[in-house]
Amino acid sequence: MNIAGTDIFERRESEVRSYCRGFPAVFTSAQNATLRDETEREYIDFLAGCSVLNYGHNDPDMKAALIEHISADGIAHGLDMYTSTKADFLRTFERLILRPRGMDHKVMMTGPTGTNAVEAAIKLARKVTGRKNVIAFTNGFHGMTLGALAATGNAGKRKGAGGVSLGDVTHMPFEGSLGEGVDTLQIAETMLANPSSGIDAPAAFIVETVQGEGGLNAASAEWLRGVERLARAHDALLIIDDIQAGCGRTGRYFSFEEMGITADLITQAKSFSGFGLPFAALLIRPEHDIWKPAEHNGTFRGNTHAFVTGRVALEKFWADDSFAAEVRGKGEQLNRRLAAIAAQIPGAALKGRGMMQGIDVGSGELAGAICAASFERGLIIETSGAHDEVVKVLAPLTIPAEQLDAGLDILESAAAATRG
Ligand SMILES: *Cc1c(COP(=O)(O)O)cnc(C)c1O
Repeated sequence: MNIAGTDIFERRESEVRSYCRGFPAVFTSAQNATLRDETEREYIDFLAGCSVLNYGHNDPDMKAALIEHISADGIAHGLDMYTSTKADFLRTFERLILRPRGMDHKVMMTGPTGTNAVEAAIKLARKVTGRKNVIAFTNGFHGMTLGALAATGNAGKRKGAGGVSLGDVTHMPFEGSLGEGVDTLQIAETMLANPSSGIDAPAAFIVETVQGEGGLNAASAEWLRGVERLARAHDALLIIDDIQAGCGRTGRYFSFEEMGITADLITQAKSFSGFGLPFAALLIRPEHDIWKPAEHNGTFRGNTHAFVTGRVALEKFWADDSFAAEVRGKGEQLNRRLAAIAAQIPGAALKGRGMMQGIDVGSGELAGAICAASFERGLIIETSGAHDEVVKVLAPLTIPAEQLDAGLDILESAAAATRG
């Protein structure tokens, strides 16, 4: 491992840097699920930019379309003015994603990161209902700006706010968080029904269907339908934060498809551009789209380069069900292999669904050691969970089945070596 080239980062890059500490190599190029460093060493990427790179690094078709757009002096930045590029993207999103799913949602281009979309969702829900309180769930992660951070459970992340109040959010227990056999929905229902519970009437419920950062806790369709039922009963909006679990990660375009749920607001970011470009949006049921022009603003709303690559991603992967079916197949492959690895680790349990699965190994120390041993063997993989206790596989959805197996071979040997 060559870490000779990292001195500039240690000297000049803020201490806030994080992922690089677990993967102390200097990366130079990447293709699909393979990363290369300065020493020409290759790594299999089971992190995929935290689900930003669902279609892998440098997809050739997106790359070609983007180069062509730039070469032809296509618009690079246009505030939120009308461009032919935005029209093409929206038409494609309508044709391939919204219409086939019977969704009448409008698309709000927010600032370019996920947390911008979450802020817009929370703000809009408060405007629509005239209420302040948002119900969020334990272990939820919704972003790092103050509104989204208030809805985020993680103590370390909340501490970063420097002690300002992260208010107007009530945290309720996520499914399974109080142990088997405890009906967390029933608890939320009882609390909200009690006019003396001290919980203000909610503007919205915000929930991830699979908690990406919070330990890959996957909610059941039944529980999610219950959350929607509660939202309706209290005249609150249902916000599904599909930033990490969406864009095909669970084997459908949206993570909640075929669960019988209608979300009022849906956040999209991470893999929305398809190519790793910053791009986020909020999908809004039309009756809730009560924004006045420029009432929520931002200089970088709608990244024109991302409109190009995002459109190609939709055309290439979502014109029919074949890609999604392939992802579901790889999810099963992943599940089988992880089950075998977990069986070798006392007390370990499988988490997640689709192509966002992992192993709860019981402690952050062990999970961290397994990730470190994996990196030494050429695999990039991270942890998740309240105690970083889950080894989380987040490979590109486009990873060839053999390379997925090769990465899992490394994980298996790393887990064995870590046990000693
Ligand atoms: C990553 C993430 C966010 C925040 O997105 P950023 O682009 O990091 O601001 C919000 N919600 C979920 C579920 C995420 O995984």
